Amino acid sequence: MTNNFLPFALPEIGEEEIAEVVQALRSGWVTTGPKTKQFEADFVQYLGGGLEAIAVNSATAGLHLGLEALGIGPGDEVITTTHTFTATAEVIRYLGADPVFVDADAATLCIDVDAVERAITPRTKAIIPVHFAGRAADMPRLLAVALAHGLKVMEDAAHALPTTCDGQLIGTLASDVTVFSFYANKTITTGEGGMLVTRNPEIAKRARVMRLHGINRDAFDRFTSKAPSWYYEIVAPGFKYNMTDIAASMGIHQLKKADLFQQKRAHIAALYDRALAQLPLILPPHAASGDIHAWHLYVTQLREDAGVARDTFIERLFDQGIGCSVHYIPLHLQPYWRDSYRLTPSMFPASQEIFERTVSLPLYTRMTEADVDRVVAAVKVALRP
Ligand SMILES: *Cc1c(COP(=O)(O)O)cnc(C)c1O
Repeated sequence: MTNNFLPFALPEIGEEEIAEVVQALRSGWVTTGPKTKQFEADFVQYLGGGLEAIAVNSATAGLHLGLEALGIGPGDEVITTTHTFTATAEVIRYLGADPVFVDADAATLCIDVDAVERAITPRTKAIIPVHFAGRAADMPRLLAVALAHGLKVMEDAAHALPTTCDGQLIGTLASDVTVFSFYANKTITTGEGGMLVTRNPEIAKRARVMRLHGINRDAFDRFTSKAPSWYYEIVAPGFKYNMTDIAASMGIHQLKKADLFQQKRAHIAALYDRALAQLPLILPPHAASGDIHAWHLYVTQLREDAGVARDTFIERLFDQGIGCSVHYIPLHLQPYWRDSYRLTPSMFPASQEIFERTVSLPLYTRMTEADVDRVVAAVKVALRP
């Protein structure tokens, strides 16, 4: 392996983030407080207003709070895609409900809406689509199906800042809840963190209370208001999911750069598209015409005529100092999900085929054009018979 390994993902953190974090550290207030409030307000403004944003310590926490606020519980079924990270589905089990996994659409790698329709039963309560790699799922059709069957929709938007669907930013559609992730490798990062977004004031109120122990007033309000404020009430057995002001300090500045980051990612994706076009690879699906793709991931698939197995291909890239990854090992192959719900590959032919052929190439804002060239050259070597 070469000395200068090109990693699969890297965050881009500037002096602005560092200065804001230092200011939070010096301020004496490091947990949820003014920086978190500002980050939430900035997020609402970024999405165009008319909704509420609740900052949490991970997207997983936000997805859990979202389903809890939607009243999901034992006996309920929630439909989601097998082609995702386990967090999308594990939150359904946190609440004692059952995930019903459906296949991916081979063209978009997002949830197959026909399969969603077929999976609806009298127990179905909600649907969780994932905007895979930063390309929007077919939300107009999915929302129509949900409306026709009286189902809730929570978007897993961990990859989707900023993504649009029919020209509207993800987070502003007619779904009940949308959750973004600020994990280290996502399109913007707070180290760990997430944002729950909703237009529904009841859902927002419940999520705020459940974010912090089921307390009906947050600590910043209690400790900083002028009036004596020792009193609070516990109204539910809540969770400990609040975002710290240290994380929010990063988020405030990362959010300001979200559009610039998207442009950089889209530029790298376009360079890859051009350089890889003649190779035996299936290139990533693009956004619908006129829409924005967040380009969280650049997901290729080895074509039948590539003449090299996926695992060998990844080893050959790694040997040349190139990091890559697989998105995802579908949940129907993971022992817990496979055994609990008796899932087999034949139930998910599209996802299974994608999995067997898929390789995600490095894609992050700090990549240079020389880095892209290096990856492309390594891909060409790895494809040699
Ligand atoms: C990263 C990710 C999550 C979880 O995000 P965290 O902020 O790490 O909890 C959920 N769903 C998908 C599809 C993800 O990629």
